[in-house]
Amino acid sequence: MTEPFRLAELPRLSRSTVDRDEQVRTEPARLVELWRDGRVILLDSLGRTPVLPGGTALAVRPASGDLPADAVLLGQHDGVGYWALPHDEELREGEPDAAWGRWAGGISADGEEWHDLRVAGAALDDMSAGLFTTAVALANWHGRGRFCANCGASTARENGGWATRCPNCGREEYPRTDPAVICLVHDLDGVNGSHVLLARQPIWPPERYSVLAGFVEAGESLEACVAREIREEVGLAVSDVRYLGSQPWPFPRSIMVGFAARAARADRDAPVRPADGEIEEANWVSRTEVRAALAAGGDIPGLRLPGPTSIARQMIAGWATVDR
Ligand SMILES: [Zn+2]
Repeated sequence: MTEPFRLAELPRLSRSTVDRDEQVRTEPARLVELWRDGRVILLDSLGRTPVLPGGTALAVRPASGDLPADAVLLGQHDGVGYWALPHDEELREGEPDAAWGRWAGGISADGEEWHDLRVAGAALDDMSAGLFTTAVALANWHGRGRFCANCGASTARENGGWATRCPNCGREEYPRTDPAVICLVHDLDGVNGSHVLLARQPIWPPERYSVLAGFVEAGESLEACVAREIREEVGLAVSDVRYLGSQPWPFPRSIMVGFAARAARADRDAPVRPADGEIEEANWVSRTEVRAALAAGGDIPGLRLPGPTSIARQMIAGWATVDR
């Protein structure tokens, strides 16, 4: 019997391997020790970091000097502390990434290439991908959380960068994550359907299509959000909402929670009604066509799939490679 499809593989930004060791964050003497022999991941103001030639590992630096106030402990590996540190390097701006149409890399004076996580993340090894993802998540939280949400005073960092405290009213805050659902909708043909609903947003590069996604609202369950987003974006009712997996997406602070759902067969014959502005076009695409795009590396004329760093790619590849 055919099994329900799964993700093709663990999403590329979910491969964290360092030990986060929450306890050590509250021990100032240990933090100083971990800095002294530590390794540092630099991030520029756009969240880019230097990547070694070949693209599989980050170009980490040895720590030097005293522990900076804005250093964040990402975790430990083999007894070595890994830190993130903001660093503005003079970079020569490169071309936007071909697959995304955005997020250009930069090249430093000594030829080092600095990359965006969305562009470089898929090719990095597990440890580098996890470190870079956590570094970007914490940098984006600190960048947007410098003032107390209660009284407006400037906050101070604590716990190796994993908390802030307001010196005025004492309010504590921890890194925030906003859940967003992303759902692969297929038709009722067999267990996994024969067609998948792929849509595009007007801001995407031409011919780029993906599955539907949206932010979870306050007071809403993930399953209810899936049904609401699909109804709002393309006017379809779905059933059998099923969890697939998740991936951090720290731009600026999301986690993508992946689901599968089934639309009624009658709906495949009915016109799909894209929401004004948000969705430009939505179509039922056959497994044969998706397989052809995957076999060609993700792009064929008329159908460019989401890039390999996204959970959407793992969802679509997982769906395409099973039988219906
Ligand atoms: Zn306060």
